[in-house]
Amino acid sequence: MSLIEVNEVSYIYENDDNEKPALKDVSINIESGDFIAVIGSNGSGKSTLAKLLNVLLLPSEGDILVNGLNSRDKKNTWKIRQQVGMVFQNPDNQLVASMVEDDVAFGPENLGIPAEKIRERVDKSLEMVGMAGFQKFAPHKLSGGQKQRVAIAGVIAMEPDCIVLDEPTAMLDPRGRKEVMDTIEFLNKEKNITVIHITHFMEEAAGADKILVMHQGEVIHQGNPREIFRKVSELKEVNLDVPVAVEVAEILRQNQIKVPDILTIDELVDSLC
Ligand code: ADP
Ligand code: MG
Repeated sequence: MSLIEVNEVSYIYENDDNEKPALKDVSINIESGDFIAVIGSNGSGKSTLAKLLNVLLLPSEGDILVNGLNSRDKKNTWKIRQQVGMVFQNPDNQLVASMVEDDVAFGPENLGIPAEKIRERVDKSLEMVGMAGFQKFAPHKLSGGQKQRVAIAGVIAMEPDCIVLDEPTAMLDPRGRKEVMDTIEFLNKEKNITVIHITHFMEEAAGADKILVMHQGEVIHQGNPREIFRKVSELKEVNLDVPVAVEVAEILRQNQIKVPDILTIDELVDSLC
C-alpha cells in the first residue's frame, strides 16, 4: 500500500462559473520516504492538489487514500490531517501566537496530546528545524526563513508521516530559502518524513527524487529530475523553466559543444573543466 494514493481525482470549484475542473483525472502514488517536487505554471492546480491531500477540499470525483484512509469519510479527516501536515507560502498566516513555543504547541494541543508531552514535542520539533532555543521569542521578530521553519516545526510537532509544502520559499530571500530547503531535506533524509514540495524554483525541484509536472489541472509528466529536465522544449511549452545549468548545457549543445546530461552547476563545471 502506498502512503498516499490519488485515484482518478477531479476537482471543480463550485463558485467557478466556467466549471472548468481545477484538477482533471489525476492519479498519483506517493510512497513513504519519497521527496516529490510539484511544478506547474500559475493556475495549473498545484494548490488544489495540496488542499485535497490535507482534506481542506474533497474530490469532486475519484478518491484519495492516506495510509488506506479515504478522505471522503468524515471520521478520517483529523487522522489524515495529523498524518499529512501542511505548510503554506506565507508564514505570517500560520503563526498566530505571541511566542514561538505556543505556536509550535498549537497542533499537538488540538490533537489532545497531554500537556507534559507537548513541551517535549515542541523542544524536539524546534531542534529538528534548527530553531532550538527560540522557544520564548516573538515570531514577528524572526526572519522570513526562521518564521517558515517555526511553521514547519508546528507541523512536525504533530508527528506526521508526510508534509506538503505549498511554495514555502516563495516569499523568502535567498538565505531564508536555503535555510528552509536544508530543513526540508534534513527532515526527509534523516527523519524519513515524506515530502511533497510545490515550488516554482526549478533548482529546488532538481533536488527531489521525483517531479510531477502539472498543466491545466493534469499531471502531464512524472519522473526523476534528469528525466523531467531533459524535456526542455516540452517544459517551455507549458511556461516552465529548467535549471540554469540545464539551460546552459542545452545552448552549448546547440553550438556543437559536447556536454553530457547535466542537472546542476557543479556537473556543468566538471564537464567543462
Ligand atoms: P496553482 O496553485 O497551480 O497556481 P490552483 O490550484 O490555485 O493553481 O488553481 C487551479 C485553478 O482553480 C485555477 O484555474 C484557479 O483559478 C482555480 N481556483 C483556485 N482556487 C479557486 C477558488 N477558491 N474558487 C474558484 N476557482 C479557484
Ligand atoms: Mg498555488
